[in-house]
Amino acid sequence: MRDYSGQTANRRGDRDVEITDIRTCVVEGNFEWNLIEVETDAGVTGIGEAYRGGGIPELVEYTKRFLIGENPLDVERIFRLIVQEMSGHGGTTGKVVTAASGIEIALWDAAGKLLDLPVYQLLGSKYRDEVRIYCDCHAGEAYEVEDGATAYADADAYSPEAYAAEARRVVDMGFTAVKFDLDLPGDNDPDPFNGRLTNEAIAHKRDIVAAVREEIGYDVDLAFDCHWDYSVESAKRLAYELEEFDLMWLEDLIPPENMAAQKEVTGATRTPVATGENRFRVHELTDLITDHGVDIATPDPTTVGGLAETMRVADRAEEHYVPVSPHNVCSPVGTMACVHLGAAIPNFDLLEYHALDVEWWDDLTTRDDPLIQDGYIEVPEAPGIGIELDESVAEDRRLDGTSGF
Ligand code: MG
Repeated sequence: MRDYSGQTANRRGDRDVEITDIRTCVVEGNFEWNLIEVETDAGVTGIGEAYRGGGIPELVEYTKRFLIGENPLDVERIFRLIVQEMSGHGGTTGKVVTAASGIEIALWDAAGKLLDLPVYQLLGSKYRDEVRIYCDCHAGEAYEVEDGATAYADADAYSPEAYAAEARRVVDMGFTAVKFDLDLPGDNDPDPFNGRLTNEAIAHKRDIVAAVREEIGYDVDLAFDCHWDYSVESAKRLAYELEEFDLMWLEDLIPPENMAAQKEVTGATRTPVATGENRFRVHELTDLITDHGVDIATPDPTTVGGLAETMRVADRAEEHYVPVSPHNVCSPVGTMACVHLGAAIPNFDLLEYHALDVEWWDDLTTRDDPLIQDGYIEVPEAPGIGIELDESVAEDRRLDGTSGF
């Protein structure tokens, strides 16, 4: 068994730092945001975020038994230590990696503060001063998450006119790229299980895309997300049907497990196909990328294994001339971690923003100005991820029954 625990004593005094505590606070945004703080004995606390889903606070709490006393500057080694200790000394995917992702981001923040450097610099480079944001939008009341579960509105919410009106509103805010959901309740008719789309369902989707394009034109980038719903033949029929609209991408057309099926869909259409947000570790994206199963890779740094693991994904993608557009439904904490990643990789495209309906999203930071200005986020020069959490706002929005900072 390889021992990833701290064995290195030879370190200059000012970098001889120890982790003293790890805490979580689950904030109820439009999703449950798993915020994580890593405290050190050097007067520096790092902040990170893990993707939503049950069990993350408990997994993070468990890591305290082997992380306290470790040096937070050994970000990569600690990531491997977490994966090892949480998986019976083997490798793993799933929620353990999600929890490790949030801790890893907090470690980068702490490391940046300890070394007085922004995270992008620790990741190796800066390719851009601003990161372009695309806004994930929903027509009318078309989609909500209630108590952690998806709630759909009735069919009226999914009219082409509702999509076009929302696209217009969001573009007028300054966004140069927008995305909508294209999986609709009617997709399940007449059979809810087989993934086939009727001609009527495809025609309705085409009407939606046409209405949005007519409203915002072709200078705004436009993507649609299908949330893994369709069979291969329906995915291909839909993608063909939308080719004339020159989409930025169609996302997650088919279920995620079968690489050969994904390659078949991606290769069958000139509409760019994006996927990757629910894959773990670089290994689960390598096949997808190296086999040309995806046109735009969309790993989620708060799921896949943190910033360094996403860098590895981006490396694989760059070798195959594939752009990376990270999936992001985070609070400002995870979002700013992604901004540093976006600055640090050459093949970054643009970053998701999914909190348009959360009016207090910016209040979670101590900044006065909104993070997103005219559809871009400036890459911060402050140490770490470059923002400070307003813990009182996090506490006010803390999910009942969970611990806080
Ligand atoms: Mg998606």
